[in-house]
Formats: sequence, C-alpha cells, structure tokens
Amino acid sequence: MNLVVKEISIYIHIPFCTKKCNYCDFYSVQYKSDLVEKYVACLKKEIEFTTSENKLRVKTIYFGGGTPSLLSFQHLYKIISKIRTSFEISKNLEITLEANPINVTKSSAKNWKICGINRISLGAQSFHNSELKILGRLHSKREINSAIETIKKFCTENISLDLIYGIPFQTIKKWKFSLENAIKLAPKHISSYCLSLEKGTYLFDKRAEYSFPTENEQSEMYYEMKKILEKNGFIQYEISNFSQKIFEAKHNLNYWKCGEYFGFGPSAHSFFEMKRWNNFSNLKKYFNSFKDAKLPIEKSKKISQREFISDKIVLGLRLNNGISIAELKEKYDFDTEKEYENTLNKFFQTGYLTKQNDNLKLTPKALFVSNSILSEFV
Ligand code: SF4
Repeated sequence: MNLVVKEISIYIHIPFCTKKCNYCDFYSVQYKSDLVEKYVACLKKEIEFTTSENKLRVKTIYFGGGTPSLLSFQHLYKIISKIRTSFEISKNLEITLEANPINVTKSSAKNWKICGINRISLGAQSFHNSELKILGRLHSKREINSAIETIKKFCTENISLDLIYGIPFQTIKKWKFSLENAIKLAPKHISSYCLSLEKGTYLFDKRAEYSFPTENEQSEMYYEMKKILEKNGFIQYEISNFSQKIFEAKHNLNYWKCGEYFGFGPSAHSFFEMKRWNNFSNLKKYFNSFKDAKLPIEKSKKISQREFISDKIVLGLRLNNGISIAELKEKYDFDTEKEYENTLNKFFQTGYLTKQNDNLKLTPKALFVSNSILSEFV
C-alpha cells in the first residue's frame, strides 16, 4: 500500500484560566500547577495514541483555551517536542499561542520564541479600561500596549489582536477609539467578534443590569470596523478576520477550507478521514480516559460526502473569496446551482449573494447577518 502524506493542523486546548471572564463559555477551570502537570502528561498520551495509516505532516499548531500563556516554558516545550517526534513537521510550520496581556513578560516572550512559537494571538478585547472591567478581563489598556512591545522585541512581529464589539454601554465613538488604538500598535492581524450572551456566563445572569448596544448599533460597529481597517491596509479575508497581506491565520484557514485537524485536550474537536469527534468538556473525565488507555472522546460521527459538501459551502462562504462552484463539480460531482436552486435564487434576489465567474460569495451587506444566511445551506 502506498503511503499518502496528509497535511494536518493541530489544536491544543489549554483549559486553565486565572479567573473566568464575564462573557466566556469556553471550557476552562481555575489554574492549579499540580493539575497542569497531570494535564500535560495526559496530553502527551493523547498525542501518542493518535495514529493513522498515512503519514501525517503538521502544518499548523494552535494553542487555544483557556489561557495557554499560563503554561511554563517546560510544559510548552514538552508538548511541542511530543508533536515534533510524533508527526512529520512542515518546513513552514505556524505555531500560534493565545496570550493574555498579563502573562507577557520579557522572559515568557523569549521562551515562546525558543519553543518555536511564531505567532501570538493577544486577547486585547478593548482599549477602554471601563469595558475591560465589564468583560471581567484582568488587564488594562496599558498592559496591552506593553505586551505588544515586549512580544515584538523578544518573540515575533506576527501578532494578532482580538477585539470585541457590542459590549454593554459601548458607543460607536468608543468602538472607534479601540480600533484606532489597535491599529496604532501595528498588528499583522485583527479578529473581531460581536459579544454574544451565552447562558451560564456572568453577563448573561446579570444582563438586566446592563445596557447592550442594539442590533442596529452592532451592525454599525461592524461596518465601521470594516471601513476603518480596510482604510488602514488590512484585508478582510473572512467575516470576522482581517490581516496585512500574507498574514492570514493559516490555522483558521484550514478550518474554513474544511482541511483535516486533530484537537487535543478537553472540549477539543477533530475532523479526520471523514469523521468528526469531540473530547469530553470535563477535566476529570478527560484524565480518567487515560487510566483505561482510551482516547477521551465523548462523541464521534462519520460524515457523509453530502454533509462534507454542505460544511464546505457553509465554511467556505465565510471567506472573502467564497466557494468555487467549478471545484465542487470537478472534485465531488456536486451541482451547487441545482442542489440549492431555491436558496440561491432567494439570496441573489435579496442581494445577499453574488456569483463572480465561478465563485459564489456573500455580498458586503450579508456579512453582519451571515449566520442566518449560512444556516440555509446546512
Ligand atoms: S476569555 Fe479567555 S481568559 Fe477569559 S475565561 Fe475565557 S478562556 Fe479564560
């Protein structure tokens, strides 16, 4: 049998935070050093248990969370070394680490560089201390500025900033101030999402006490951001992601293009060889799986070709380039225009979709309401 080399991405979920932010529903628990020690040992086993008949070449690694910047040099180094010895590694490997500004010091930034981390995604969220407080973030505006300076000096220039709009009491003026401050720091990439109220979070429980921007205001914030970032040389390549030329997040592009990936750690998701699965979102269950030498999988599902194509369309339409109808026909013998005739006609007529050459794309006015449009392709 001929061995195929498959390019994959790896996501590592670091489920520890110093304190839960007021809006966050990602899986994380309070940081405790003994838990981290045990966790890294299990993570290494999980990586070891993951095998394939094919050769696997890793093109991107993404440390998300939780708060990966809480990990010590030794722990990060051990995890990355385990990946390096378990898989082939692409020459242009992108390794991203999500960092909290309060964890950025000269020594942590230097250590990240030694580990091979070449992209930092900094959770800035806002440049107003009052908004950071509402969000329950532990850092201030000043700490964002000094974190960027330190990362640039001792680790990498390839920095992405995360920003949130739709924060309680936020006005357009305040939002523009955050965007302008972000631009001044010259990051290579900006990701920005509208605050969504998730059940179980502090802000959800206390929502009656806060005044949130209306949907119209949120929409205005979105399009203002698009205008300001594009005016300042950022290219929008996905609904919520903007980058300087050639600085798109390779890792996220792999998701949107329906590439294969492994997710390690509690709550992580994977997609490989037409199967999707997710791990337990519970550290205790995650640990217990390894006692029986099992992978910590909670649910797993085989994906049919039709489901895969629908994922490809829904995720691909998030990208500025949209999807290629010709490619779907050629690779999967899928006639997009016939299969989605009514849906396409509806969105062409309302001006939410456009066809340029053989590419199907969302129009600018569709971007803020994309979720409801994309849900019709599922
Ligand atoms: S937003 Fe980030 S730092 Fe805050 S609780 Fe969630 S994962 Fe932790």
